[in-house]
Amino acid sequence: MGRIVLGVDFFYYWFHRMSHEVNALWAAHIVHHQSEDYNLSVALRQSWFQSAFSWFFYLPLALFGFDPIMFLTISSFNTLYQFWIHTRTIGSMGPLEWILNTPSHHRVHHGSDPKYLDKNHAGTLIIWDRIFGTFKKEMEEPHYGITSPLKSWNPVWANFHYWRDLFNLASHAVGWKDKVLVFIKPPGWRPEYLGGFQQPLEVDSSLYHKYDAKTQKSIHLYLLIQFVMVLAMSTAILFLQNKFNMIQLIAFAVFVIVSLMNFGGLFEMKEWCVKAEIMRLISLPLCSLLLLQNANFTILFSTCLFIAAISLLYFQIVFSNARKQQPQINS
Ligand SMILES: [Zn+2]
Ligand SMILES: [Zn+2]
Repeated sequence: MGRIVLGVDFFYYWFHRMSHEVNALWAAHIVHHQSEDYNLSVALRQSWFQSAFSWFFYLPLALFGFDPIMFLTISSFNTLYQFWIHTRTIGSMGPLEWILNTPSHHRVHHGSDPKYLDKNHAGTLIIWDRIFGTFKKEMEEPHYGITSPLKSWNPVWANFHYWRDLFNLASHAVGWKDKVLVFIKPPGWRPEYLGGFQQPLEVDSSLYHKYDAKTQKSIHLYLLIQFVMVLAMSTAILFLQNKFNMIQLIAFAVFVIVSLMNFGGLFEMKEWCVKAEIMRLISLPLCSLLLLQNANFTILFSTCLFIAAISLLYFQIVFSNARKQQPQINS
């Protein structure tokens, strides 16, 4: 039991460390680091692509003969442990700081200050960072986020922007060797003829400010109500997923992703989101057609139609008022 706990934590350390030191893996991990706030919700901010890479790092455990069910159980606890350390409310934890990964250690990990970059990769035990030379004690509180801020609340862009940067850099690299190196070198790497390694810049506290689009409060309320509805729908889908076929699940996933894109864009007062939001609300009763075989269709369709109609009316009122007060909206 003790051996698999240590084994999972050890390989998690290497998976996480490589996720910071190899560009393609960083592209699949960066989403967790984009937040300029630091709270429990950051623990849940995870990339779409990370699980496509992480399994590879745990394969040695299979060669050692550990039971897959034990691995999944211990691995889940390892992930669960990392939830509570995303907080600013706990300072130092005394002697525990020597052994465990704590809020203080993990705050360092989320810092964008050069001295904090690529430090404290631990899952549960901080001993791996101390052994392998990546430990850094928290001095002053970090500036949270990534060195080139995302400046967007679009979840799709959050998942793809670094891939776009990498492919863009690879297209300028000369020869296949350099094109491949773009994906396996550390973040900041460039061939010498494209400027060489880009050193991270110190964060100037006097100039530093978190990204904020300063949206009107009436839009906040509209988006909160819509978000709660989509959250309830997503939760229901997750609990009932075995009752749906693949086409239904894909349609729900698209609806949820489009909803979240719209919510982010409306916070930023993006013009394209106004039309997209109207289309989303119109599509809500149409989506219920997909559930013809699963539920009482008349009740479901009527409910969706009612919600969509009220939401459309509410959206038109809120957004036309917002336009009057803030005519300059973003493209
Ligand atoms: Zn990380
Ligand atoms: Zn974290």
